[in-house]
Amino acid sequence: MRRVLVTGGAGFLGSHLCEFLLEAGHHVICADNFSTGLERNISHLRDFETFSVIRHDVVDPIDLEIDEIYNLACPASPPHYQADPIRTMRTSVLGALNMLDLAHRRCAKIFQASTSEVYGDPHVHPQPESYLGNVNTTGPRACYDEGKRSAETLFFDYQRCHDLRIKIVRIFNTYGPHMRPDDGRVVSNFIVQALTGKDITIYGDGSQTRSFCYVDDLIRGFHWMMDTGDEVTGPINLGNPGEFTIAELASMVIDLTGSRSRIVQMPLPADDPRQRRPDITQAEKQLGWRPNTALRDGLGRTIAYFDKVLSTEGALPVR
Ligand code: NAD
Ligand code: UDP
Repeated sequence: MRRVLVTGGAGFLGSHLCEFLLEAGHHVICADNFSTGLERNISHLRDFETFSVIRHDVVDPIDLEIDEIYNLACPASPPHYQADPIRTMRTSVLGALNMLDLAHRRCAKIFQASTSEVYGDPHVHPQPESYLGNVNTTGPRACYDEGKRSAETLFFDYQRCHDLRIKIVRIFNTYGPHMRPDDGRVVSNFIVQALTGKDITIYGDGSQTRSFCYVDDLIRGFHWMMDTGDEVTGPINLGNPGEFTIAELASMVIDLTGSRSRIVQMPLPADDPRQRRPDITQAEKQLGWRPNTALRDGLGRTIAYFDKVLSTEGALPVR
């Protein structure tokens, strides 16, 4: 049994990770400032005696007796991370620094939730870890992209300077239960719009692509990464290589929900990446990991979740 700190543990991915770790028999401390996280994502975990929750902002230092840290704290949806870009940068950079200092003090192993956004609007397709990326440093997405790139730098500097045991994964678009109805990312937007009969908002002409991974597949990958030997540091891509246009995603959601919503086009946001698909050769080689949930199956489970949430809480405005 290990004492594991999960920052951002009340968020979409963090809450699934906390559940996974508790079921594996570990003590889990969830640290979250609840800026985008929700109490309802973790309320079912409060029955575990081995679970505790601290309201904490990772921008501030903290000391805890822990063996492992999963650093997930950071808003991940473009409207959320762009709402206060300076705060996003602080969270990524100071959050990483504070967690690395804690790991150093406690000789703990530390995991970083990095992102496919480090590749920016990629010129290499699919994206291997060796691709150095194409990020516009001055654009509206840079607070997130550059914050995450700086965090990766800090992780490797702590490893070189202090022999810290680090694990970095670059997560590609992931979806599933526990996303907020007003999260603002494409999968939750389309599902909530379809279920509430609102227009489905495609940004641009819908020909841009993304590759969508179901949350359970991803969380298994996190755990396998954390359990590798010290020589495996990453960064390693985790994502589902199945690539879809945004228009195809909209059609699939309409088909699965039986919705009569119309599809409308809205302006494409600045610096929106044209295409994205992970090269997961390294995950397959080093972790023996690959995702096994087809998009239609994962969407079905996610639609059932939102159907339940919306029928109990009513529809929240979609950003
Ligand atoms: P989310 O917004 O649902 O969760 C983020 C969590 O972090 C929330 O609970 C929020 O309250 C908390 N948080 C934010 N700022 C904080 C701060 N300063 N101090 C403490 N807590 C703070 O997003 P998510 O999709 O669960 O993403 C989790 C992590 O995974 C993020 O680091 C994100 O960058 C990374 N990631 C996610 C995806 C994806 O597709 N879901 C893709 C790439 C990377
Ligand atoms: N998108 C869309 N409609 C929406 C939300 C997003 O067409 O209501 C598009 C967005 O422009 C992008 C893709 O869907 O091209 C994925 O967007 P998301 O915010 O989910 O993730 P990211 O852009 O960070 O990969």
